[in-house]
Amino acid sequence: MNANIEDDGLEVYFMDVGQADSILLINSNKAMLIDAGDTDAEDIIIPYIKSLGIEKLDVVIFTHPHKDHIGSGSKVIESFYIGKIYMSSKTTTTKTFEKLLDSIELKGVDLIIPNAGDKIEFGNCDVTVLGPVKEYNEINDNSIVVKVDYNDTKFLFTGDMEENSEKDIIDTFVNLDVDVLKVAHHGSETSSSYVFLREVSPKYAVISCGIDNDYKHPQEKILSRLNDVGAEIFRTDKMGTIVAKSNGKEITFNQAGIKSSNNSDNDKDTNQMLDITYIGNLNSKKLHLDICKSLPSEKNKVYFNSREKAIKDGYEPCSQCNP
Ligand SMILES: [Zn+2]
Ligand SMILES: [Zn+2]
Repeated sequence: MNANIEDDGLEVYFMDVGQADSILLINSNKAMLIDAGDTDAEDIIIPYIKSLGIEKLDVVIFTHPHKDHIGSGSKVIESFYIGKIYMSSKTTTTKTFEKLLDSIELKGVDLIIPNAGDKIEFGNCDVTVLGPVKEYNEINDNSIVVKVDYNDTKFLFTGDMEENSEKDIIDTFVNLDVDVLKVAHHGSETSSSYVFLREVSPKYAVISCGIDNDYKHPQEKILSRLNDVGAEIFRTDKMGTIVAKSNGKEITFNQAGIKSSNNSDNDKDTNQMLDITYIGNLNSKKLHLDICKSLPSEKNKVYFNSREKAIKDGYEPCSQCNP
């Protein structure tokens, strides 16, 4: 599989479906869909995939049965020829989930519940299921996590898995280093623990989230952690649909990402957002630079990447570090 590259490369489309996930992968005339957005995403996902000339989804993975991952699933299943469908063991009793199961049954496609370590056949890619390592009570932790290797390039898709699942994956697998990380749970701080991010050490991090979403995803803490591990950040809320292409050696994107300050270049505008981290004290409402000597204790820290925003939220600049 790794010996030669005879296809046109691997294309990964992180479709802009708002506060939700839907990712399409294409390699050697095969297509794989990971999640199908929320209920309002069918008019985005279906025409988009069709515009790429795709009539069959060879592999469909529903990472977990939350609405923002299966919302348009039934419509998607009805609109394409379907190969195999993978789902996690955890089910729900929501209408959306029932509808999805009905569409799958109508289509006559078998449902596969994969185990960690299983392989999924997809073009010339080597696809390994990393999670869930075991069954969790928490639906998000039960997300199907897949690593897609295409020659020398590696992608990791995480659904909404949280810290428990991250920890078990680190304990179970070796060589977790990847090039592109689909940041778990839309950039929520319940996921993307430091240990996990250090282990996967992504060059590029893609966050799928909605503009001004109610959850405040991605959270400042996560942006700051991604910055610390040197990842270039791509966000669907700021950039729309993000397309990554791998030729087996290198990955290129359809647009520039937000570079971290660790491997910064002269692109000041895109850097500005992540260059300086401001830390507020929840108790005293003082605002500090992250280099200040009198930073609040961990539990009282609140992170900002804009001074303006902090002042607006009622924080007062510290007289020592003078942010
Ligand atoms: Zn979820
Ligand atoms: Zn989600």
